[in-house]
Order: sequence, then structure tokens, then C-alpha cells
Amino acid sequence: MQISIPKPVNLLVDRLESAGFEVFCVGGCVRDSLLGREPGDWDLATSALPHQTEAVFTGWQVVGTGRKHGTLTVVSEGNPVEITTFRRDGVYRDGRHPEQVTFTPRLADDLARRDFTVNALAFSPRTGIIDRFDGLDDLRNKLIRAVGDPARRFEEDALRIVRALRFASTLGFSVEPATAGALRNQFRLLEKVSAERLFSELCKLVCGEHADAVVRQFPEVIALLTGAFSPDGVQLHLLPARPGVRLAMLMHRFSPAQADAALLRLKADNATRRTVAALLSRWDQPLPVSRTGVRRLLSELGVQPLRELLDFQAALGRETGPAQQNLQQVLTDGDCWNLGMLAVNGRDLLSVGVPAGRELGAVLRFLLVQVIEGRLPNRKPELLHAAAEALPLDPATFAGGSGAGAKVDETFGLG
Ligand code: ATP
Ligand code: MG
Repeated sequence: MQISIPKPVNLLVDRLESAGFEVFCVGGCVRDSLLGREPGDWDLATSALPHQTEAVFTGWQVVGTGRKHGTLTVVSEGNPVEITTFRRDGVYRDGRHPEQVTFTPRLADDLARRDFTVNALAFSPRTGIIDRFDGLDDLRNKLIRAVGDPARRFEEDALRIVRALRFASTLGFSVEPATAGALRNQFRLLEKVSAERLFSELCKLVCGEHADAVVRQFPEVIALLTGAFSPDGVQLHLLPARPGVRLAMLMHRFSPAQADAALLRLKADNATRRTVAALLSRWDQPLPVSRTGVRRLLSELGVQPLRELLDFQAALGRETGPAQQNLQQVLTDGDCWNLGMLAVNGRDLLSVGVPAGRELGAVLRFLLVQVIEGRLPNRKPELLHAAAEALPLDPATFAGGSGAGAKVDETFGLG
């Protein structure tokens, strides 16, 4: 079996081999190549010690961020490639990090520390595939199987419990029975794992093509991560593969406050928290059916969040057809729904005598509301005329003028 290595990676392989070191492509890139999937990145493992790798790549751009663990990043034709010295992990006393990393001259040791058999394959053009743990069989049979004794491997690093589910979800594999048994016995060890590592794997898990099956098979693991969980009504596959909207689906029965507390515990980023909050706080509210209503909601949310809201509601069985159609119309016709799309700008208003400063902003927002609500066309002469008419400003004119006033303020704030 032959794998085609991208040229920039091959350059590094050739150079290390010419210098007398062993070097292999390892982990995800071998697995994905054999599955006919595009590898995310190409990782190399080598017998060269970090200072030897550095010497081989004198004159190249080398970044040493992972040096402590034996990883150097070498930039080859503009592509960063990680090169890691073969290593053996020391004792994992806290179930999180190996106490120490030991370098080893043997590829076999390096493969033995890897989590699953399908991730423990190595390849070089010189040797072909190296398969010490029957990873090829497991690849064929679509199985996630721990390398070695699963109970011990989960004890060493409980993150592997979520990683097993992550690979099952993204690859559409089953967790092999002994590995699944150990996982079910030991999932409480996850309490010891850092929130950041868990969150990152959970995001990949929910974005997998087969995530629905996995969360139904291992609800107790999801419950431990999110605080509570029931797979009833969860339809992840109907949603785009983005963490925010998928996590919202996972927690759609939670109150917005409950969901946010779970995300805070997981140290989720703010953008994800905002997306989940926006979806969960709106999912039981009626959707706009008119084109005006769609423009109003667009001005509040923006295009992608509104699309996500519609996808989310549709996945939960709501009628979203009219809103989807109107959104399509608004976008195709280029309806104005934000200040950037308005046919007049601040300079135009100054030229007809609107004073600079707060008033200028207020008049712009007033005009935007008129256009969104369909009370004025989005054309310069009409808008300038309306602006002149509105002067001198009476704050009451636009304070109570439209329900969209407050929402447009938000758009203005963002724009
Ligand atoms: P992806 O394509 O999603 O990056 P990957 O297999 O490359 O998948 P990574 O998380 O990038 O996954 O890890 C790279 C490799 O390092 C894995 O294939 C595996 O061999 C090893 N590995 C990563 N994390 C662990 C872990 N916690 N325990 C043991 N081995 C691990
Ligand atoms: Mg990877």
C-alpha cells in the first residue's frame, strides 16, 4: 500500500533520511490517507533528537514551541510541518499529563504510546506501512480500539475517552467492545481532565458526521461533560458542522442559563457561548414570516446567525419555509438591512445640514429603520429629503417610531 506524501513533507523526509535518521509519517495523516480522506496535517516522527533535527534544518525556518515534548515545527515551502522525536510517555500520575517524556530511538515505542490502533500506523516511502497493533484490520472493520489495555490507557489519560467518541463520530467507526466497556467503567475519570482539552474534543465530536449515533450510544459521557443530557430529539446531522449550533442542539432542552453554565465550566470561547445563547433564547419564539420581519431580524443578528437559527429550528421540527424563502429573497435582491447598505452615509447627511455628532448617528439609524420597515425606498434623494424633514430632531420621533429601533441600534454598534 502506497501513500502519496505532499512534496513539502517529502522534502523533510528526504533530508532527515539523508542525514541518517529514521523518519515516518504518523497518526492522523496515515489513517486518513488510507481511508481516502484528506489529512488535516502531516505529522512526522523521527529518531533524530530535537537538536539533531535543528542541525539538519539549519537555515530553514524552525519554530520550537513544542520543544519540551520533542516537537519542532519546520516550515517547508511555506507549510509548517511538525517533526517530533520518537518518545515514550512516562507515568501519568494525575491522569492528565505524563510526568516526563523520554526520547527513544525506536519507532515501536513511539507507536505504543499512541491512543488507538488506527492512530498508531506509520508510513515512509522507504518502508511502506508499519502496523504493529493491527491498525489496518481495525481500519477495515471500522473499529476504534485502544492500543494495549484500554483500562490502563484511559487511566493514564482520560481524555482518550472523549477522543474515542470523537473518532467514532468523525469516521463513522464503532468503539470495539473491550474499549467501549473500559470507557463506560471509567468515564468519571474525565472530571480530572482540563476543561480546554475536553471542550476541544467535544467540539470535534459534535461536528462529526456520525455524532447522533455516538451521543445516543454514550449519553452518560455527554452528560458528564455538559452537566445533564438526554438524546431525545437531538438531530445533529441536520445542522451545519459548526460547534456553536451543534452544541446548542446537544443542549436544546437546557435553559439558556443552564447551557451557558455548562459552557463556562468547559471554558468555551465567547463566540460559541454567544451563538448558543442566541439560539436557545429564541428557539421557542415565532419566526418572522414577512420580508420586513426577516430584514428586522437580520439587522439584529446578521446573516450567518440567522441562517443558523433557521437551521436550528428546522432541525427541531419547526416550520421555517416562509422565513427561509424571504431570507433568500432579501439576500438575492440585496434589500438593505444594515447601515453599510443604506443609500446615504454620514457625509451625505452633513451636506444637507445634519449636525455632526450624536444627531448624525441618530438620523442614520432613523433612516435605516424606515427602509427596513418598508416606509422609505433605499434611494438617496428620498432619504436625504426625509433627513431634512426630520430636522430639527425630536428624539421622540424615532424612540417610539418602530419596534426595530433598539435592534437597529445594535447593528449600528457593530457596524
Ligand atoms: P486530526 O485529523 O483530527 O488532527 P489526529 O489523529 O491527527 O486527528 P491529533 O489530536 O492531531 O489527532 O493527534 C495526533 C496523533 O497523536 C494521534 O493520531 C495519536 O497517534 C496521537 N495522540 C494524540 N493525542 C493522544 C493522546 N491523548 N493519547 C495518545 N496518543 C495521542
Ligand atoms: Mg492531527
